[in-house]
Amino acid sequence: MQFSYEQHRIIGGIGADDQYWRALEQGEFKLPRCSACKRWTWPAHYRCGACGSWEFAWEAVEPVGVVYAWTRTCYAFERVKERAADVPYVTVLAEIPAAGNARVMGILQGSEEHLRIGAPVRGVILPPSEKSKHYPSIQWTLEVRS
Ligand SMILES: [Zn+2]
Repeated sequence: MQFSYEQHRIIGGIGADDQYWRALEQGEFKLPRCSACKRWTWPAHYRCGACGSWEFAWEAVEPVGVVYAWTRTCYAFERVKERAADVPYVTVLAEIPAAGNARVMGILQGSEEHLRIGAPVRGVILPPSEKSKHYPSIQWTLEVRS
């Protein structure tokens, strides 16, 4: 079942982030940058908090960063019961240096062996699914540097 992004707004999102979801659906990782002062703004807003501009450019960014924070979900919460079979799972807040250290949330995929604050991660874009409430999603995998 496909929903329009307008319908998604009923269950979440503020609308200013629509282009984030549309880009992910096309397999691209894009984040908003103020067209006037070039400041990255994430989570997305309609207006730049630094200079007041209403104009944003959605720039493609390589989905690589570092773990800013993470948490383990040990219960199947009612609002995300689609993930009940995955419990326990880890959610990562990844900091993206190429986008002004924007912090982007995603489920951790793969091994947790090197999970720690500052660990390098790479994003993998997944198509909309039941588990992601019909949104495309980005999942983070730990990159092991030798
Ligand atoms: Zn600005």
